[in-house]
Amino acid sequence: MKTTSFRRQVTSVRASSRTRSQVPLHGNGNAPSNGKKPGVRPQITAWLKRPKHNLIAGQWVPACSGKLFDVLNPADTFLLSRVPDSGREDIDRAVKAARKAFESSPWRRMTPSERGKLLWRVGDLILKNADEFAELESLDNGKPRAVARVADVPLAADLFHYMAGWATKVEGNTIPISVPYAPGARFHAFTLREPAGVVGQIIPWNFPLLMAAWKLGPALTTGNCVVLKPAEQTPLSALRLGEILLEAGVPEGVVNIVTGFGETAGAALAAHPDVDKVAFTGSTEVGRLIVRAAGGNLKKVTLELGGKSPNIVFKDAGDLEATIRGAANAIFFNHGQCCCAGSRLLVEQPIFDKVVEGVAGHAKKIKIGPGLSEDTQMGPLVSEEQLMRVTQFLSQGKADGACYVTGGNRSGDHGYFVQPTVATNVEPKMSIVREEIFGPVVVAEPFSKVEDLVSRANATEYGLAAGIWTQDIGKAHRIAAELRAGTVWINCYNVFDAALPFGGYKQSGWGREMGHEVLEHYTETKAVVIGL
Ligand code: NDP
Repeated sequence: MKTTSFRRQVTSVRASSRTRSQVPLHGNGNAPSNGKKPGVRPQITAWLKRPKHNLIAGQWVPACSGKLFDVLNPADTFLLSRVPDSGREDIDRAVKAARKAFESSPWRRMTPSERGKLLWRVGDLILKNADEFAELESLDNGKPRAVARVADVPLAADLFHYMAGWATKVEGNTIPISVPYAPGARFHAFTLREPAGVVGQIIPWNFPLLMAAWKLGPALTTGNCVVLKPAEQTPLSALRLGEILLEAGVPEGVVNIVTGFGETAGAALAAHPDVDKVAFTGSTEVGRLIVRAAGGNLKKVTLELGGKSPNIVFKDAGDLEATIRGAANAIFFNHGQCCCAGSRLLVEQPIFDKVVEGVAGHAKKIKIGPGLSEDTQMGPLVSEEQLMRVTQFLSQGKADGACYVTGGNRSGDHGYFVQPTVATNVEPKMSIVREEIFGPVVVAEPFSKVEDLVSRANATEYGLAAGIWTQDIGKAHRIAAELRAGTVWINCYNVFDAALPFGGYKQSGWGREMGHEVLEHYTETKAVVIGL
């Protein structure tokens, strides 16, 4: 199955879900329920009801066309809100606002220390509103509220806190130069690290608030101005974050948030001639479009793309129960909608059956339901498009001869729920083994020769992450060094930190998010030479 043809197939689905307008706002549908009625807190209901606008030049403004599109709750497909369907003209206004702010606003005169304090306030305000953000994220994306509350929201706040510290620490160097063709001449040479300028940021729907934080934090701490386009499926937390940014005192035009579709607003942002850099997270297919669009003015590009990450379990993994739990978490966290999901489980032959049985056992016990139910462990996929995508992969896998130890189908017939799935009897050529499914589906393969293992693990066009489970520390280091992946977790998985760089080898992307490495991508280095 080619992603491109899939995208064409889903166009009609997207169009129908966008334009659905007869459904009641904030309805309570018939999603699979596990007994407890999910409640939406009144301030969220009130916030959802308020008209949604773009944030441009410090003002909340409608799309130039006046058009809106629907934002649905993936647990019941009911309407949550409507947001601006922005186009080229809106992006252009936002870029102009960002350019003006970059060239002449108080932002440029703000000291690094003041900038750092401002970012710290953003982190504090996210924490102050953590319950609200978690609920919004759950409604919009489908993930369990409890997970958003302990993972997405605190990680987003921590990213701003971490980046706040860097505002005062991005330094140039003094460089002793020799200039061989100017004997006897003396110079004082140094470098300045300056903001890249106006940055376009395009983010996906799997961790909407966190991805906004990953993008905005480094851009702002280094003094850039931003136009952010959230994903069409999940624009709500970015709009709420916009309110928080204004409350924290971010000057007008420094952050502009424009909602809309990738093909229109996103493409206009990536191609805009007055954008200096574009940072993108999403599919490898769209990553390629971004690179092409950026070619017009040769803007700088960073990409955080897909993955098909190997998770390797050796027979000397030690605590097998913990390893099995780790392998299950590696794929089922966030419903498998993680670019770094451990979606290829490679298990040493002697313990293969036991590990597969264990991971399948975990899968069967996962409580599926709406994200707002207290005991939900896995919510719906984000959209009908993703439901179709994942179930088509499952059907294709079955047709190709894969065996589903558990799962393999949609769960229920309301909302976008999919059964956590463990597949065996797979071959390298199968699409479920090669392609990023972005759902709760793991393919398990046995291995017996350690010599072949690394080439099997690396046999993917992606290179985002990998896992290794062993008590042999020497072996763990050797294999980690040979894996072509941006992150290798040993005896753990899905460990993220604002200080830890994240990004991909091969077709998983260009550049890194987080850590101090990301700051390179948001700054230009200027060499200054003074003749003495
Ligand atoms: P996309 O790559 O289409 O979406 C990511 C972002 O790019 C969204 O904001 C989207 O806008 C935008 N976009 C789409 N087309 C363009 C374009 N031509 N120019 C500029 N921006 C554009 O991912 P999908 O949502 O379609 O998901 C498809 C697959 O992508 C998933 O199944 C998964 O495999 C992968 N993916 C990977 C992610 C990661 O973290 N690496 C995250 C999300 C998806 P809009 O949503 O408004 O159309």
